[in-house]
Amino acid sequence: MTAPTLPGLEPAPTPVAPRPGSRAVRMALPRSIDVLKDIAIEYGVCVRPLAMRRTDLDTGLTEVIDLPCGATREDKCPPCAKKNRRLRQAQIREGWHRDDEPLPGPEPATEAQKSLILFRAHLEFSRDEAVRAAQWDQVTDLDEAIREVEEAIAAEGLRGRVGPPHASDDEDQDDEPGQRRKRSTKRRQDAPELPRRKVERRTVGKTYTAPDGSTYQPSMWLTLTLDSYGPVRPDGTPVNPARYDYRRAAWDAVHFPRLLDRFWQNLRRCEGWNVQYAGCVEPQRRLAPHAHFAIRGTIPRDVLRTVAAATYHQVWWPSVDVQRYTLDRLPIWDEQAAAWVDPDTRESLTTWTEALDANDDDPDAEPVHVVRFGAQVDARGVMPGTEDAERTIRYVTKYITKHTGDCHKATTDRQRKHLDRLWQQLQMTPCTDRCANWLLYGVQPKKAHAKLKPGRCKGKVHQRDTLGIGGRRILISRDWSGKTLADHKHDARAWVRALLGVTTDGTQLVDYQGDTAERVRHAWELARPDDPDVGPMTHRLMRSISERARWRSELLAAKDRAAQGSSDLSATQHSAQHDGEETQ
Ligand SMILES: [Zn+2]
Ligand SMILES: [Zn+2]
Repeated sequence: MTAPTLPGLEPAPTPVAPRPGSRAVRMALPRSIDVLKDIAIEYGVCVRPLAMRRTDLDTGLTEVIDLPCGATREDKCPPCAKKNRRLRQAQIREGWHRDDEPLPGPEPATEAQKSLILFRAHLEFSRDEAVRAAQWDQVTDLDEAIREVEEAIAAEGLRGRVGPPHASDDEDQDDEPGQRRKRSTKRRQDAPELPRRKVERRTVGKTYTAPDGSTYQPSMWLTLTLDSYGPVRPDGTPVNPARYDYRRAAWDAVHFPRLLDRFWQNLRRCEGWNVQYAGCVEPQRRLAPHAHFAIRGTIPRDVLRTVAAATYHQVWWPSVDVQRYTLDRLPIWDEQAAAWVDPDTRESLTTWTEALDANDDDPDAEPVHVVRFGAQVDARGVMPGTEDAERTIRYVTKYITKHTGDCHKATTDRQRKHLDRLWQQLQMTPCTDRCANWLLYGVQPKKAHAKLKPGRCKGKVHQRDTLGIGGRRILISRDWSGKTLADHKHDARAWVRALLGVTTDGTQLVDYQGDTAERVRHAWELARPDDPDVGPMTHRLMRSISERARWRSELLAAKDRAAQGSSDLSATQHSAQHDGEETQ
């Protein structure tokens, strides 16, 4: 309450406006540092730059240069996340409708390469003879020779290993001693009801000819979802939480990536060509993952539906029906036995190998989980170069700057409770064969060791905001655009520099991030924030913003000039144009 009023005096009327200079007035003013950050974001300047010290190896001069942090999530750095999204969009755009093979086959081997492989073959023969004759010192020599030849083979420009290395006595190749685990045939995960063709090397789709003679090559857009776990309301929460199958939802989310792999494998076999895709996994409102894909070429919709319906992934892990331990009564590590044991009986828990062997020996064993797609498979054709194609690309990449947990923020109590129930299941669901949570079910995980924390595995899928989507969310097939993300970044920069007529560095438009071929005369190291030449972050931000503002107007002017010269922009340029503003 306020101070006691003097007798005879009325309390002062409540002021209508705060007194000038009062705290309230001051607090209503925007903070200049916040405005600076906002402007940095507006201009696409990284807000958490990394100070790097660059030393010119010719002159010895050093300079501190801010590199963008390169974050992919906007809660870390909006400009960098946005830039990453644009690169992904460029990547999707470039691979989607291409009508030539992105990666033509390799060139024929040279004579030198062939003779090296032949030499390697002779060594293999000799090694085998030496092993049979038990001439171990010779084997050692031959292994050394093999190592040298393989180095030469790699240096000669051949990709990959010619063969797996020979296991020596001290390094056991398999994790568990004994022979490699073999799956019985009944556990093969084929989809028998699908036709099976030999997969051609082709990755581009069919070209169609219209009655007027013009040709067109449409592509596709596909969404794959998981099954229903119970009816949900429009806000994504279950109508009846008690009957919503959270356990299956959790297991499905954890194994969704494997299911997608199987889908592409089955689709390629069924279609008989090397279908290419680029897409993104993200949560639906009900918090189950689904996936959007751009597909190059067209595939009949009923084929996509049939393949999705026939595709499944079986998880052949030990049973999790009985939870034998709880957080207040956990197995303990026995140093002497080098095993996890029951806290009371001190008996060793089933090892991973034992559990799998028991599973193999049981003719009636069932997989612990089978994941399948839901009935909803959305697919449609998209014509290259249309607004529809652009809109679809934006849609695919809509959430990639966000954490999984931030795609659909829980705003109501019902949504928060739904998330909590799912999370509770995810905490219990084993993430991999090495998950510490196996100990709760009385099984020692693969490669068990003393440091495991039963029921508290650090795996990503157990964390609340991953919703069980622990792996990569951007999925791009190998022969999509024939380029890596770094290649696309390089394209965007090259385009901007060509437009500005910048050919060498030395101006503020230097390519700071790579181009090792051009820039070997510099050495880079991380500068420490308290180094005297680094300067306060705010000063560095201001300099970057000013540079960017000037540079942006130069770019706009150059674009105007270029537009007068030519109005034809290819797809790459189109993306670089967007990207240019953030490329430096
Ligand atoms: Zn950044
Ligand atoms: Zn785990």
